[in-house]
Amino acid sequence: MPYAAHSASRWLTTMADGTVKQVSPFSGTQVWTVPGRGNRPLSHHPKEPEPLGESALTHTCNFCEAKQLATPPEKARAVRTERGWEILRNLHPDQLAQTRAEFRRVPNLFEIVSYDYWVRNYGYQMPEAQRAHMEDYLADPAGREHVYDIARTRLRASGAGEPETEDELLEVVPAYFGGGHDVIIARRHFIDGAVDDSQLASSGTLTPDEHGAFISFTVDALRELLEANPYTPYVVVFQNWLSPAGASFDHLHKQLVAIDERGVQADLEISKLRRNLNLYNEWGVNYASYHNLVIAENDEAVLVAGIGHRYPTVSVYSKSATCEPWKQTAEEVRGFSDLLHAAHAATGADVACNEEWHYRPVDLDVPMPWRVNVKWRLSTVAGFEGGTKIYVNTLSPFDVRDRLVSNLYRLRGEGRIADGIRIAQECGPARNVLKYNPLL
Ligand SMILES: [Zn+2]
Repeated sequence: MPYAAHSASRWLTTMADGTVKQVSPFSGTQVWTVPGRGNRPLSHHPKEPEPLGESALTHTCNFCEAKQLATPPEKARAVRTERGWEILRNLHPDQLAQTRAEFRRVPNLFEIVSYDYWVRNYGYQMPEAQRAHMEDYLADPAGREHVYDIARTRLRASGAGEPETEDELLEVVPAYFGGGHDVIIARRHFIDGAVDDSQLASSGTLTPDEHGAFISFTVDALRELLEANPYTPYVVVFQNWLSPAGASFDHLHKQLVAIDERGVQADLEISKLRRNLNLYNEWGVNYASYHNLVIAENDEAVLVAGIGHRYPTVSVYSKSATCEPWKQTAEEVRGFSDLLHAAHAATGADVACNEEWHYRPVDLDVPMPWRVNVKWRLSTVAGFEGGTKIYVNTLSPFDVRDRLVSNLYRLRGEGRIADGIRIAQECGPARNVLKYNPLL
């Protein structure tokens, strides 16, 4: 089908009564926004806030700072030093208190795709360095006790009952050294100085510098997981924030899961990308720009309101010519992080949301930019959707833009988002600003 950038109206139509009909240019998903439903508050407070107890800041859940042995053995941590942020790897239990981890990377207690999956289906063996670390950890009495405790917890919870022999425990242990499902945990459960349990620490309540460390630490984990497993073309990276978005703890964390596919959505986009290398400029950012849906930008990235998403969505696109986030410069990753942080801060810590990363699978031959969607998990009308496959959103892309733009101006005035972010009309015309396309 021919595509004319300015006149293409099939993705986004506003009808006479104000109904906004959207079709995703990437997935074909159809979404309607019905007028009059968009003014409701985004957050739902299920209960009155309760005052925090003395140790709540450090002891509320198993991801909290005082419970570092409640998670499987730490793979890495990001710490602040006089020289800036540093990553420490493979610490033993007696080393955990020697530094303060602002972010920790640990294996998930229950993997979505298990270590066993890779061993049985592919003959996978963990890299030699990881095996050596596992043996080292088991040779340390505190390490052995820790990892056996974790293995017991897992066996009990899975219904296998109390393990009877050490061999039963040892069978589970490799999953916590060679597995491909990691969790990245932020230090805080509540913001500093919090007095009640509504004051959760979210991506948006981090400082821009802390968020930058969070993102570069996640990119480091992504690189490591891809390098550790020659059978995975793709590691899924996501963040579920609050229980309506699927989070099991109200404690900020991201997850990374190595898979042996690219995913259905990626395959669909790749077939479109092969026909039009400039896909993400034309249908992502240029189209948003022509419809005044660019929310903010800086030199490294651009933030737009998404079209045709089942939930109201904003997307951050990297402008870098380098597709792989782990090959980008520190400045490029930091600039991308700054816009993502601003999107979270302007969304608000009380809004349940999913953060979903997309980037070029390692075995893909065509270029594709790094981009992240933030989806607001607001309620929708299920029966109507089941019958029609048309999703009803309470907020149109224009509503999403307006909320974020006014919040971004306020946050900038308060000094809570990074410098160098241009908002709404301050942005230049976003025409082919994504340099992943080598033809540009
Ligand atoms: Zn916690």
